[in-house]
Amino acid sequence: MARYTGPVCRLCRREGTKLFLKGDRCTSGKCAIDRRSAAPGQHGAANKKVREYGMQLREKQKTRRYYGVLEKQFVNYFEEADRKEGMTGENLICLLERRLDNVVYRMGFAASHKEARQLVLHGHFTVNGKKVNIPSLIVKAGDEIAVKEASRASEKFKALAESAATHTAPKWLEVKADAFTAKVVALPAREDVDFDFNEQLIVELYSK
Ligand code: SF4
Repeated sequence: MARYTGPVCRLCRREGTKLFLKGDRCTSGKCAIDRRSAAPGQHGAANKKVREYGMQLREKQKTRRYYGVLEKQFVNYFEEADRKEGMTGENLICLLERRLDNVVYRMGFAASHKEARQLVLHGHFTVNGKKVNIPSLIVKAGDEIAVKEASRASEKFKALAESAATHTAPKWLEVKADAFTAKVVALPAREDVDFDFNEQLIVELYSK
């Protein structure tokens, strides 16, 4: 499936916010948003008036890029969120949170969604004891995610476990970094996601 392979800092500058797409660099002084936050392109720094549609579009793009999801896939998530009971926008964010690559990122075993996606694609994780290499797999309450037994002895995963041990996971995930495992103890709620999304704008965009 086609993926965006261009410079990712450009995406943050386009959305005017940190999307944390480059791991440790995002919290260092080298972050492009900290150094030059204007949108990319010749007229990026121009003071443009953003209309209602523009705001809705940008919010959708920001959310999609944060989770590393393609447009078609994102629309599918929206439709699924809309079919569920409750607020569509909140359902959407909670659904995206439950993607396996996001769970690996929240566990602290990857510095970015992109790295988490790579680790899952390479078959380093199991869900309920079965090897899974599908980053878009949606986890359920009670699921156990673990680093595959054969991967645990590698220097890379020993270092990742050390880093995960100092990471604060959301409360819906019970992480045991030294055991290379995490359990989904509850479904994520909207307030558990500490990123600044305005999901209502996305609902308005797709409701036109
Ligand atoms: Fe975005 Fe990270 Fe690049 Fe900063 S360093 S602009 S947060 S991807």
